[in-house]
Order: sequence, then C-alpha cells, then structure tokens
Amino acid sequence: MNQERTEISSLGEFGLIDHLTRNIELQNASSVVGVGDDAAVIDPFGRQMILTTDLLIEGVHFDLAYTPLKHLGYKSVVVNLSDVYAMNAVPSQIILSLGISNRFSVESLDEFYEGVYAACRRYGVDLVGGDTASSQKGFIISVTAVGEVAPGQFVRRNTARKGDLLCVSGDLGAAYVGLLFLEREKRIFLENPAIQPDLEGESYVIGRLLKPEARKDIIEFFEREQLRPTAMMDVSDGLSSEILHLCRQSQLGCVLYEDKIPVSEETRRAVFKFEMDPTACALSGGEDYELLFTIAQEDHDKLVLNEQISVIGYMTEAEQGAHLITRGGNRHPITAQGWNHLK
Ligand code: ADP
Ligand code: MG
Repeated sequence: MNQERTEISSLGEFGLIDHLTRNIELQNASSVVGVGDDAAVIDPFGRQMILTTDLLIEGVHFDLAYTPLKHLGYKSVVVNLSDVYAMNAVPSQIILSLGISNRFSVESLDEFYEGVYAACRRYGVDLVGGDTASSQKGFIISVTAVGEVAPGQFVRRNTARKGDLLCVSGDLGAAYVGLLFLEREKRIFLENPAIQPDLEGESYVIGRLLKPEARKDIIEFFEREQLRPTAMMDVSDGLSSEILHLCRQSQLGCVLYEDKIPVSEETRRAVFKFEMDPTACALSGGEDYELLFTIAQEDHDKLVLNEQISVIGYMTEAEQGAHLITRGGNRHPITAQGWNHLK
C-alpha cells in the first residue's frame, strides 16, 4: 500500500494538471495539438469525425467502496470508446474533465490516471485535453471521445432492414451479476467489518463490471471481412431495452431466441447463487458494453468465422412486434425490463 499522501493544494491547479499529463506522448497523426494550449487541434484527414460524451457521478454511476480508482479510470475511457465503435468508427482522441474534492490526494489521482492511460494505450487514443475543478463532495468524471470513419461508413441505429439477422458480440449479463456480488459484500461489510469479502471464484463477473473492454476487435473484423452491419449500437442498458431502441428507430419488429442469447458458464454459475434466471440478467442487466447489430442474411457465412459473434434472432415487420421465443417454445413480447422482472 502506498502510505504517502500529497495534498492537491500543494501542487495547485496548474501544477496538478502538469503532473497528471507530464508523460503524454501523442500516438495519432490526427492529434495536432494536445494538452497545454487553450484547446486541442485535431485533423481527421478527410474522414468524418465522431463525437460522444459521458458524465459519471460518484454514488450514481460508481461506488468507490468497491471500485478501485485505477479500474474506474480505465472504465471511464472504455465506456466512451464503446460508443465510438458502435458507430463503426475508430476512436482517436479523448478529453477528460474532473470534479475533485479535497478528500483525494495526488497519489489517488495518479492511480485513476494510470487506468486512463492504460485504456489510451490499449485502444490507441490520445488524451488531448480536459478541465479540472473542485467538487464539494463527490467525484465527477466527464469523458468526451473523438473518432474517425471513412465518409458515409458510420452505422446508425435506425437503418436495420426486415429479414436482417440480429447479432450480438461476446456474452451478456456478467457485469450485472458482478454488481450483485459487490453490493452484497458491501452490505455484509457495513454490518460486520470483521468479515472478509467472499468473492472467491467470481473474478470473471466482477472483472466484467469493474474492467470492461470495448469491442475494437469486432470493428476490425468487419473491416477485414468487408462486412458492414445495417444498424448497430452498444449494449449498456440490458439487451431487451437496446433491442427495443433498434426496433423502434428502424420501425421494425424482431424475433429473439432465448437459447441463442450468449451467457457465459461463469455467469450462469454466479446467477444460480442469487436464485435468478440467466436470461433475465442478460435481458435486463446492464454495462455489458457488447455490440448489438443487424446484418444482411447473405453475410451469415462470414459471420460464423467469428466465434465472438452470436446470431440471436432476425428482424421482422413492425406489426409483428418484438418477441422472445423461450427455450420451451413460448412467445413473449419483449419489454424494457425483460420478460421476467429482475426484482
Ligand atoms: P483553461 O483555463 O483555458 O480552461 P486549463 O488551465 O483548464 O485551461 O487547462 C490547461 C490545459 O490542460 C488545457 O490544454 C486543458 O485541456 C488541459 N487539462 C486541464 N485539465 C486536464 C485534465 N484533468 N486532464 C487532462 N488535461 C487537462
Ligand atoms: Mg479549464
């Protein structure tokens, strides 16, 4: 454990910014001017620019009781990059702004930035600016991501077509179960601080919550195989609510097969301990940061090359609504909470 504690006030605002950004080496040709001037300069070289931002507030979006700062820094960047990939684009820069209270030391901010820079390296993006302000109490994080895409190659949510395959990357529901474990351990700890956390064997689901990854690999796969989804979005609020967005915005319905929804073995085992249904967790959990997309049936042969992609259903006319076909063959309308409420 690092016992040192340097007060932020000992560096001052400019000293702090210098300290936090002193090792930045710009990686992208499009990053013309980074940290240190009044604003950054970005040259997308004739490509279209993608912009997206997210605000994360302590106590609302994260709980520092069980979120290591390094993971939080990493995740704050990744969740933004996920939105850029969901447009079929490649992220290139981020801007990171913080509201910090004096309960943070310089060392704890260093930890947070370690995570930020780890994500920047992993995804090849440059931190080119930000803002630093003091906050009365909570920790506030705002990340803006910039991305690039060849003109017209971005993929929206409202352009799915009838008959398209409905697909999702990776597996779903794990982060939600990870959250259930951490919330449970927090409750037990608050009631009895002497009890050690019992998270043995749950590293997969907890990792999926605390250190998610964005699906850079899927966008690269599309590029390599010259595939282009007809519509795409990332899964941050649970599969069912995202599917309903896709259907509504594309003015279509869909059929989703329960037995095709990807849920990992680790998640199934973990869900079992809470006496819950894995499908309900996949449908109504959240924070999976997988990609949900539709693609023409002709592309099926290429899709199967990638075992990280599951075909989970297909798009229908709007009049047919959005339905889940259960393992037992029953048909349920998909609702925003999933077909089986979690609570
Ligand atoms: P201004 O007064 O013009 O807003 P600042 O003093 O806030 O400028 O910022 C100086 C430089 O440091 C700018 O390039 C800004 O983008 C960058 N910056 C400020 N805070 C952060 C931060 N938390 N992380 C990264 N860069 C930052
Ligand atoms: Mg400023």
